Amino acid sequence: MSFEKLNLIAPIAEALQSEGYTKPTPIQEQAIPSILKLKDLLGCAQTGTGKTAAFAIPMLQILHMRHRQKPKKAIKALILTPTRELAIQIQESFAAYGKNLPEKSTVIFGGVGQQPQVDALRRGTDILIATPGRLLDLMNQGHVNLSDLEIFVLDEADRMLDMGFIHDVKKVVAKLPQKRQTLFFSATMPPEIEKLANTILNNPVTVEV
Ligand code: AMP
Repeated sequence: MSFEKLNLIAPIAEALQSEGYTKPTPIQEQAIPSILKLKDLLGCAQTGTGKTAAFAIPMLQILHMRHRQKPKKAIKALILTPTRELAIQIQESFAAYGKNLPEKSTVIFGGVGQQPQVDALRRGTDILIATPGRLLDLMNQGHVNLSDLEIFVLDEADRMLDMGFIHDVKKVVAKLPQKRQTLFFSATMPPEIEKLANTILNNPVTVEV
């Protein structure tokens, strides 16, 4: 299968070509069509499978097609991921696949001063990539408005549990608009993660690789 069959818009298809991507990985082949149909998704996949592109590519396409007539500066998508390294990688992926699009992404994580992140949030962003603790801090200080959120991604849910972040994740989820598309990724499905998936996903398509 080639990327052509996935009906991607030209600015994204061209960005993938310049990244040297010639064909979708199995998770991309399975997940991208469902996400573009606006379905919730439960993805069982590890890092290295191409899972970042599996959610970033269709998210950029959905947001761009939906808002290109009337762009509004607001956070429309949130990606929660457990580590700073993953957060940075995800932001680089959004920047690469979206390099021919106007949608902007911003990354926030703990362990560094918060002022540059607050300044970046003030300038406005369409897509926010965050680790849970720093996101909660900035939410509690009133720097993050998620009332326009349309798509929520929980990345590496099982690692969130292992690293002790699951409580923070639940607190963030409780503050998100109910009406949204949710994409949930986990390499393993321990009972607590399955329970969380059941509570935050709405009639999801399951993809396993
Ligand atoms: P991930 O599983 O998201 O961490 O991605 C693993 C690596 O695969 C990253 O370096 C991506 O740039 C690369 N990658 C993702 N999708 C493709 C693809 N369709 N073709 C070639 N490389 C890819």
